[in-house]
Amino acid sequence: MTTVRKDIPEQYKWDPAALYPDVAAFDAAFEQAKADIAAFASREQTITKDAASLAETLETQMAIELTIHRLYEYAQLASDVDLSDNAALGLRGRVQNLLDDWTSATAFVNPALIRLEEDTLAAWMEQQPSIKAYSRYLHGVRRFRPYTLSDEGEKLLADMSGALSSHDDIRGVFTAADMRFGKIRGEDDKPLQLTGANFVTQLMSGNRRVRRAAFFKMYETYAQFGNTLSALLQGFINERVTVAMVRGFESSLQASTFNDEVTPDIMHNLIATVNKHLDVLYDYYDVKRESLGVSQLHLYDVYAPMVAAETRSCSYEQAVEMVLDTVSVFGEEYRSVLEDGIRNRRWVDVYPNAGKRDGAYSTGGCDIEPYMLLNFTDTFDDVSTLAHEAGHSMHTWYSSGSNPPQDAAYTIFVAEVASIVNELLLMRRQLASATDDARKAEILDQLMELYRTTLFRQTMFAEFEETMHTLCADGVPLTKEVLCDKYYAIIKRYFGPRVVCDKPIAMEWMRIPHFYYNFYVYKYATCLSAASAIVKRIETEGESYVQKYLAFLRCGNSKSPIDSLKVAGIDLTRPEVVEDAVADFAATVKQYRALCKKG
Ligand SMILES: [Zn+2]
Repeated sequence: MTTVRKDIPEQYKWDPAALYPDVAAFDAAFEQAKADIAAFASREQTITKDAASLAETLETQMAIELTIHRLYEYAQLASDVDLSDNAALGLRGRVQNLLDDWTSATAFVNPALIRLEEDTLAAWMEQQPSIKAYSRYLHGVRRFRPYTLSDEGEKLLADMSGALSSHDDIRGVFTAADMRFGKIRGEDDKPLQLTGANFVTQLMSGNRRVRRAAFFKMYETYAQFGNTLSALLQGFINERVTVAMVRGFESSLQASTFNDEVTPDIMHNLIATVNKHLDVLYDYYDVKRESLGVSQLHLYDVYAPMVAAETRSCSYEQAVEMVLDTVSVFGEEYRSVLEDGIRNRRWVDVYPNAGKRDGAYSTGGCDIEPYMLLNFTDTFDDVSTLAHEAGHSMHTWYSSGSNPPQDAAYTIFVAEVASIVNELLLMRRQLASATDDARKAEILDQLMELYRTTLFRQTMFAEFEETMHTLCADGVPLTKEVLCDKYYAIIKRYFGPRVVCDKPIAMEWMRIPHFYYNFYVYKYATCLSAASAIVKRIETEGESYVQKYLAFLRCGNSKSPIDSLKVAGIDLTRPEVVEDAVADFAATVKQYRALCKKG
């Protein structure tokens, strides 16, 4: 039975009243924002009339954005804890409409800023120092100048954007609502309905019969829909390739990386470096085969835990202690701010309850506390999740506290660094303090799994992604056969000569939604590589390095992502960071092997 929300003590729930004392206050702010948005439209005539008008427009825009953000957060905090609460969902719907109005009302801003001549802007910055405070923001908009179309062209693309971005939605509806995967015999020998959501859990079963059945059943179903799913993926990629070409980018990859203010060589460096060291991954699969005690490792075995995890429970209070203990390495400020947030300021919505959103996330920003949603069920995984989300939240706290609002939000390219740093530190601390070998093996298994899934698997996906985009740009139709052949070849290379690559894996691309995220996955791998390097330097250099790391957290968006990582001494343009992450994985495999030999 899931707990009813009202039965959970207040101290374990976040508090929307910190944003607005009640719905009446929300309504008042909402109405004001609506009026401000309507009034903003008239600035289209004056935005670049003179320095004073530009300064005023930028400041007004920022102020309205902060209000909308606060309204959004209030609605999110209210609705995500009970998705059946129609009143809260109503607030959310209203804010969504407000956001749409805001997008339309500000549609003139970027084109006007892009049209502004460099000399004029430079002169205005001298006249109005408040414009200078927006130089990063202005740079962020104006760097798109070479890839901006005529006003009519931009309007056409904007009007078409809903239709152009529909492939992912169609795939989502098709796989979740229309596809049926049939039943397998579950761990308890009873029939079990296989779904997209429980598939990986079955692959993680300690029972090989269950893993095998889930694997073959899943792809037996996908095999029937390969033509539809390849047509959808081709549609999506074609759209990305075409829009990039129309805008004058060299490729869809360049367009995507340009958005993140990086260049394609970051991803190419990752792929090349990982490929150079695939033998380390093969070695890991050998260890896995030995641990599982099977004569040959099949693809349906790779998710199975090497160590049967003991059901060791861990209360939320213990988890908080463990996480605070871990982050004490960052010094008193980090630790005490986090402790105050968790214990007194109700940053965390801790336990699952009926209707609450699944999973975990961190949210927040300027003037808004960095709230965390958890679904804590007393497992060690939940402790890792708390460490991970606390990493996001403290990154948000540092970057919003150290920058003006326009520079506060760190970009997606560095977004997973602070969270993975915390997770790695937690695991390494647990490892150092573990007294029995069984517990050590369990932690090492989790660590290896983190590297395997985040560093190697995401890089493999990135490689496949680029292959598809390149083929599409060259005019090769992305049929089911082409996609399966290419995917299978990459799989064989990443699993090596000693893993049995069961044929149905060629269809795995059909069930991965990330191929519709447009060069997103490689960023998991680069963030893990950066985090791995940061953790190593914290451990070897101590306090002096910690200061550099905190300076990175304070960067927000005041620098490009590559430059802000350089503040922490991490240079992702060079192969060393990825090399080192691979070496950390290799060392973990070695440590695990040594532990097994001993036992
Ligand atoms: Zn995260």
